[in-house]
Amino acid sequence: MIKGFIGTSLVDYPGKISSVIFTYGCNYRCPFCYNVDLVLPERYKKLKNLSEDWVIEELKRRKGFIKGVVITGGEPTLWGKRLVSFIEEVRSQTGLPVKLDTNGSSPELVEELVISGLVDFFAIDFKTSPDRYAELGGDFALVEQTFRVLKNIADRVEIRVTMYPPLLTEKDLEKMVPYLAWFKRIALQKFVQENTLKKDLVGEVNPEFYHRVDAYLKERLPEVSIVKRY
Ligand code: SF4
Repeated sequence: MIKGFIGTSLVDYPGKISSVIFTYGCNYRCPFCYNVDLVLPERYKKLKNLSEDWVIEELKRRKGFIKGVVITGGEPTLWGKRLVSFIEEVRSQTGLPVKLDTNGSSPELVEELVISGLVDFFAIDFKTSPDRYAELGGDFALVEQTFRVLKNIADRVEIRVTMYPPLLTEKDLEKMVPYLAWFKRIALQKFVQENTLKKDLVGEVNPEFYHRVDAYLKERLPEVSIVKRY
């Protein structure tokens, strides 16, 4: 299940020094994805597996220094019950809070994790307007269900929008705003054009684009805090 581990990160868990765990496999194919090694089977097959026990020992060694654990991917929720058991182990053996990153394609699993209280903080992607999710291999109906689950714990959710212009036209943003309004914290993520899934992407993104999106959302969602990561 696990192919990557970073012992210390200052940027992956809002307000906490954390360790980051990378699961492999993803059911989406976002053109701007730069975690290609964790997404494409021919790539992740070449990476070494890290056992759950080894990762938990690494977390225990850092206890006292790290204040949280981030589980990201790929898409971690694809691991279903195995992921749930692993989070239970992390919680019981380290006592550390867990943040989970997801593309929103597993509403039932996310609901289970919310109800059980095993995950303290969620980061969920909102990649484009609902009617364009098929372009990424996704199904927005599932994402919408996940949004509905997370809306109830909006204090503990960050909704992330990657600043990739072809998927964020003004028309797209218009259709995204009603859902974004359910949340309290939006993170605008930098689009990094390095080693991306799709090769012929747009070139450098004009900084003006970031400011336009930021201003557009601020005007329509004055109550929502917008974090800029670019
Ligand atoms: S960006 Fe995330 S959801 Fe999209 S393909 Fe990459 S890992 Fe999967």
